[in-house]
Amino acid sequence: MAQQYRFVFTAEQAASEGVTDHKKLPKLIENARNLAKAPIKVGAVGRASSGGVYLGANVEFEGLLPKFYIHAEQFLIANLALNSEPELTHLAVSDNGTVFQDPCYRCTHFLQEINNAHQIEILIKKRSRPRRLIQKPREPHARPIRLRKYPPGRTLSPSRGAR
Ligand SMILES: [Zn+2]
Repeated sequence: MAQQYRFVFTAEQAASEGVTDHKKLPKLIENARNLAKAPIKVGAVGRASSGGVYLGANVEFEGLLPKFYIHAEQFLIANLALNSEPELTHLAVSDNGTVFQDPCYRCTHFLQEINNAHQIEILIKKRSRPRRLIQKPREPHARPIRLRKYPPGRTLSPSRGAR
């Protein structure tokens, strides 16, 4: 029962769920999607540099405009930050559990705020090739245009106090 609401897996716990490496992240996508609070359930599964695996899910709020919704990738990043993970290395996102796609424009922008954004590998699994999982590194030229590079030193970790 408690497993149903698990958002964080240590490397060992993830391995016991069959996620022994980043290519197996989709094995936890249904766990992530089941956490969603929205009609269309989107799940995000991310692997951190520690080997820990984190889940994110979309959250919609009745009566609010979609721009106030929390996307699964954003939830995932907040989850990593709350757990003091310094680096997201791999990400898998799906709204149906079988097709894995790039984050939307808004989440791509959000992910760009992280120092190592260009090193995060997005797992892509297309409907036309259901058995193939491609690791797609974020190429610098694939970044959205007009995004400023923020001052270096920004990480997922909470700040260590005022400077
Ligand atoms: Zn998004």
